[in-house]
Formats: sequence, structure tokens, C-alpha cells
Amino acid sequence: MRLTKCDFMRGVQCPKMLWLDKHNPQYKVIPPDVRDRLEAGNDFGDRAMGMWGTYVEMTARTPSGRIDCSAMLFNTQAHLQKKTPVLCEAAFAVGDLYCAVDILRLDEEGCYQMYEVKDAEAVEPQFVLDAAFQYYVATRSIKISRVYIVIHGEGDLLVPCDVTDLIIATQKGLPAMINRVHAAGDTLDEPNVCCGKQCKTPYRCWYWDYCHTQKRRNKYERI
Ligand code: SF4
Repeated sequence: MRLTKCDFMRGVQCPKMLWLDKHNPQYKVIPPDVRDRLEAGNDFGDRAMGMWGTYVEMTARTPSGRIDCSAMLFNTQAHLQKKTPVLCEAAFAVGDLYCAVDILRLDEEGCYQMYEVKDAEAVEPQFVLDAAFQYYVATRSIKISRVYIVIHGEGDLLVPCDVTDLIIATQKGLPAMINRVHAAGDTLDEPNVCCGKQCKTPYRCWYWDYCHTQKRRNKYERI
């Protein structure tokens, strides 16, 4: 099973969430307000792409409009070799791990800095873990000198927050976390996970209705 950054983060929040994504996504319900927030986040991400001036976007699509990961990996390698100053959506893969980094920017020493863009007003712990996964995958191919999370400032300001030390400190525990998430997604049977705090932290789960209906059903069956 290929594990993207999004898969990893969802599997960390709840192994059953990732399993349902892979095996029973038809139970997913994305509330309209969440859809609106995701779209707003995309607009913020699009604006951030230009924060260092001219950039080259690695995004590629198949004729049917799906994201073409292989073409993105190929484009990224070609531009890294050319030392393109700013790459957006630069794609990396190692084994079955895959990620696309929001922005890579060449620094004065000829090394790339990584920027992850978040439509938020503060750096949250889940953003650091998310960037740590990207760093883990990307640094199998290139050296990254600094890592920043870009959040909202006042008005239209984009604020890069240096999280390099946090990202490096998180690396040691990542392989074990990745293995656990992988194992959860790969099991044949639905993981037996009770509803709890993880259903709304850090994000409300899109399988809320499915699991909480199941919980009520189990309760009544016991009565
Ligand atoms: S609703 Fe809760 S238990 Fe069910 S998949 Fe989501 S986080 Fe996991």
C-alpha cells in the first residue's frame, strides 16, 4: 500500500480512519463547512506559491485528470538537477512512501529549504508531524537545510516559522510510527477501535456517522 503524507496523518489520528479510507471510503461524509475550509486552504496555498517570486509547479495530471505521481517525481528530479530556484509541489518517494512538498527554495549555499503551508494562525503539533513526514521522505533524495511552516499573519501576510529543530527531533520516532500506520492500513479486517477523543482531535473524523451509529447499534445489541 502506498502511504502518502495525508494517509500517514489520518492513520496517526486513528488506524480505523485510514483502514476505512482504503477499504470502505463510501462511508465517508465530508461536512459542507469542512469542504469550504479545504477550498479556502487551497486558495491560501496557491497564494503562498508565489511568496518567493517566480516558481515552477511540479503538478502533473493524467489524461483523465488524476494526479500523475510518476510524472511529478520525474519533473521534480529534472528541476532539482537544474537547480531551479523555487519548486512547488515537488514530489518524492522512497519505498512505498510518497509526498509532495508545498515549496522548495534554493538558499544562498545551494541547498534547498522546505516550506509547508498551513491555512492557520498558529503552528499546531499536527503540522510539525506532517512536515516531519515530508522531510523524512524528501531527505532520502536531497539535503534540506531548514524547514518552515507558513501560517497567516496580519492581513495578507504570510509568516514562515522555523521548525527545523522540532522536525529533526521527530525523525527518530518516525520509522516506527510509519510501520504502525502501514500495518493498520494493510489489515484484512476493520480495526477494532472504540470511538473517543481521536474522533474529533485534531480534526473531526469524516467517518463519525458510520462509527457512532455502529457504537449505538452495539450498545442496543448488548441491552
Ligand atoms: S469516527 Fe473515531 S473511531 Fe471511527 S474512524 Fe473516525 S476517529 Fe476512528
